[in-house]
Amino acid sequence: MGKFFSAEHDDIHKGLTTDVYFQRTEAILKAKGLLDTDTRSEFTVATLPDAWPWAVLCGTEEVVRILEGRNVDLYALPEGTVFTSRTKKGIKLPVGTIDGAYGEYCSLETPALGFMCYASGVATMSARCKKAAGGLPVISFGVRRMHPAMAPVIDRSSYIGGCDGVSSLKGAELVGRPASGTMPHALVIMMGDQREAFKAYGEIIDPTVPRVALTDTFFDEKIEALMAAEEMPGLRSVRLDTPGSRRGNMTDIVREVRWELDLHGYKDVGVFVSGGLDESKVKELVAAGANGFGVGTSISNAPTIDFAMDIVEKGGKPIAKRGKFAGRKYVFRCPECLEFEVTLDRNHPPVCSCGKEMRWAEVKVIEKGRRLVPEEPAEEIRRRVLRQLDKIDL
Ligand SMILES: [Zn+2]
Repeated sequence: MGKFFSAEHDDIHKGLTTDVYFQRTEAILKAKGLLDTDTRSEFTVATLPDAWPWAVLCGTEEVVRILEGRNVDLYALPEGTVFTSRTKKGIKLPVGTIDGAYGEYCSLETPALGFMCYASGVATMSARCKKAAGGLPVISFGVRRMHPAMAPVIDRSSYIGGCDGVSSLKGAELVGRPASGTMPHALVIMMGDQREAFKAYGEIIDPTVPRVALTDTFFDEKIEALMAAEEMPGLRSVRLDTPGSRRGNMTDIVREVRWELDLHGYKDVGVFVSGGLDESKVKELVAAGANGFGVGTSISNAPTIDFAMDIVEKGGKPIAKRGKFAGRKYVFRCPECLEFEVTLDRNHPPVCSCGKEMRWAEVKVIEKGRRLVPEEPAEEIRRRVLRQLDKIDL
């Protein structure tokens, strides 16, 4: 164990974070000479949390990385696929399929699920907030509510899900863009006066950083908003992070600040809201005239997606536990309306209810341990998510 209570990457890779029952399974299969039995396993989710109609697949890049070098083949839907848990007929959709000797990946089930379940939850909640914001910027602010070892994965997943920026330095480095942030209340308190804090920010912080002033530390939001507009040249937005005890009606506070800024000739200064937001609050605040959102805990503490990994073939023959469908399934998708279908026949693409011929949606990512497709930049995966979000409803 290193200094902090998080697993070392090498330990994860070796399967040391796995559940002990896989270690015992390996020991038994090894003793009985069954570890090399050819198997096929798939990842599915029976039900999405919170009655979500769809989810954003995320975390598969790390699944590829942990399986790389093991003698297996991996087929998966591309990271950033907006998928449903089941087809219209109710068949569970395999988002990934592993082929290979069971011993090659038995102990990696736990970490592989962990990569996908958490990241997909965060990406999905981000996508929902982004949809609710209707094109306005949403910044991921949630790293402080989770273990710091997770900051990069939180930020990458939220960015892929559609967030426009991420707040942590390491997360920003991972997604390849500058970190987003404004100023904390601590700065205003330390400077002793709002006007001094706003002035100092303008003076000291690199001019390429957008000027966003936090305007609720000591006085009323509309008073501090005007102070910021007066003291900070090039002010882009004011940020309202009003404490719960003062909120009353946040949409009305936003309307009032908007009104006050307009009244004093600061029509170009936006109103950015953070603190306790989720998709429904974002939606209300859009209607009230807010221009951007910092969403924290509801993204980083998003419900995890209950993926399971199950054996569906052994020794070339279909087999599955109760409740799971046996055999290799092929996932097809309509390029037009994005509907999914699962079939047993790779060679005959089904026709969608819209009349279009569906396309095989899986990608062969690993062949005998060798990676076949290069890693995609987060930016590109995010664009794929946004293109799909345009076509679907919340
Ligand atoms: Zn269609």
